[in-house]
Amino acid sequence: MKRIQLSKNFYLDEFQRSQTATRHGIDMTIVEGGVFHANLKRLCRDVLQPVRNHFGPVSITSGYRPAKLNKLIKGSKTSQHLTCQAADFVVPGHTPLEVARWIRDNCKGYDQLIHEFGEWVHVSVPQHNQLPRQMNLTAAKLSGLFGRLKTVYVTGLISVETAIKGAA
Ligand SMILES: [Zn+2]
Repeated sequence: MKRIQLSKNFYLDEFQRSQTATRHGIDMTIVEGGVFHANLKRLCRDVLQPVRNHFGPVSITSGYRPAKLNKLIKGSKTSQHLTCQAADFVVPGHTPLEVARWIRDNCKGYDQLIHEFGEWVHVSVPQHNQLPRQMNLTAAKLSGLFGRLKTVYVTGLISVETAIKGAA
């Protein structure tokens, strides 16, 4: 199979991988030349390729999420993963916080940047005709009622411990 290149080091198939989708037989096709394809190209050009150039290999942990998949993993109904505007990723050997702060300080085209639970970075680009919001957030789990954990989003790129203290 011919791989479809998005930028120097990124390929379309990296954004189509999902164990949940495979298990449930969900179609992960992204139409070549379509809007979703264009969104991923912008995501690579404006954020992921610069990160790759600076830090080294990047591992995409979640890219495209068709509605069915998004529902199964309980994603937000307005998730930018639905339209290929967002990706979750890690850079082996570097903390997500370090990488997120580098994006904040060196990339201009990102829309929403989230340091998620100290585990990975979520980053998105705006739709092609919109301005990037350059929002910076940290997601953390707080213990709520009946021992249930609830997710809180705190402004800024901070450690999860600091986010929990600030939100408590
Ligand atoms: Zn995400």
